[in-house]
Amino acid sequence: MPKKDLGPAGKRMFENMYVCFKCHAKIRAQSEKVKKGIIKCRKCKSHHLRLKAKERRGAK
Ligand SMILES: [Zn+2]
Repeated sequence: MPKKDLGPAGKRMFENMYVCFKCHAKIRAQSEKVKKGIIKCRKCKSHHLRLKAKERRGAK
């Protein structure tokens, strides 16, 4: 059975959310900027970010 998760609104919400690989800080940024390496983690200054969108849980 396919689970229906967030839907279009939720998707958009998570579209620009990234999580720092090192310290797991959440960062909201445009994907273009992340790809270009403009976006840094606020805490540890890492460029190593991943998309938050993969996660199912935490849908508030
Ligand atoms: Zn970090």
